[in-house]
Amino acid sequence: MDSEAQRRFAQMLHHRTKSLAPGAPLAPEIITAATYHCPDVDNIAYIYGRASTPTWDVLEAQLAILEDAPCVAFPSGMAAISAALFATLGGGKRLVLPSDGYYVSRLLSQDFLASFGVEVVEIPTLQMEHFDYSGAAVVLIETPSNPGLDVCDIALIAAKVHAAGGVLIADNTTMTPLLQRPLDHGADIVVAADTKAPAGHSDVLFGHVSTRDATLLARLREWRRLSGAVPGSFEAWLVHRGVETLEVRLERMCASAMEIATRLSAHPRVKNTRYPGLSQDPSHVTAKRQMSGFGFLIGFELEDRARAEAFLTACPYIAQATSFGSTHSSAERRARWGDAVPEGFIRLSVGIEPRDVLWAAIEAALDQT
Ligand SMILES: *Cc1c(COP(=O)(O)O)cnc(C)c1O
Repeated sequence: MDSEAQRRFAQMLHHRTKSLAPGAPLAPEIITAATYHCPDVDNIAYIYGRASTPTWDVLEAQLAILEDAPCVAFPSGMAAISAALFATLGGGKRLVLPSDGYYVSRLLSQDFLASFGVEVVEIPTLQMEHFDYSGAAVVLIETPSNPGLDVCDIALIAAKVHAAGGVLIADNTTMTPLLQRPLDHGADIVVAADTKAPAGHSDVLFGHVSTRDATLLARLREWRRLSGAVPGSFEAWLVHRGVETLEVRLERMCASAMEIATRLSAHPRVKNTRYPGLSQDPSHVTAKRQMSGFGFLIGFELEDRARAEAFLTACPYIAQATSFGSTHSSAERRARWGDAVPEGFIRLSVGIEPRDVLWAAIEAALDQT
């Protein structure tokens, strides 16, 4: 984590401290009102819960410090991605997105945006740097991509997309703003599923969008108000609480992931270990330049589907679950969702278990499968 991210994190922990009245609670309040006292409509911050809610504002202020940009909260990562796409696209416009990225973004584009006349183009993350973006209104990237962990150069792609007159959206879910700040590399909009590491406890769905462009920001807020894709206050409060420990969790998770990836890559049963922190990884050079940590996701292959399933069943400290970024380690065979990966490919999300205990369990499970 770079010193800028550390400074932002400390500032974030105290973002409410100075404005509190004596006797005010240190923890934010959960305000669930649908409607507010409104004797006249001028100069009132809160009128109706779909337009604005105090508990969202607290969370948005917190996340805005980490992003170094205003933030709009949404009830899930996909609600945030939908907002970014609907706010920027329209009939006859072209969207370019990764063929190896989060599959739900692809399904949304194919099943809904395409039927509104959006031209949907899918290309692999590794072709993003070389693609001709002429005619593209919106480009969505995901780096590292999920689940393959390929990396693309955000600054280079931003320059090409802008030269073609397009808008660049970066899905930063796998990194969080503490490990990578796409807006600093030229992306126009960052989207993220806070369901993952930011909330961090597998107990809430959430998402956010950040941008430094005032016109886009207003449109994203308007999309939320009109579409009604609004988060609940309790969920916003849970995310605010989770984010307060994000830096310590990430530190443990990234350090463990580096060590476990190194050991996996040397294990005779394991093939094609992918982790951007490994010096031999094809993503390493670009990752080192634009990320300030290599994350907590590892990809690797066992011989076949049966071996992969036996491993996942045998390891007591890996939850067999979809999703990632929680306190507990979790993993799954991504081919079960139809991702274009080998049958024995496993995506492992390293949690906060003490590292040597976790590795001992992984090694024992590998040895018996
Ligand atoms: C999980 C995820 C999403 C969607 O988030 P939800 O909160 O499940 O809607 C979007 N992008 C990526 C990269 C993800 O991993």
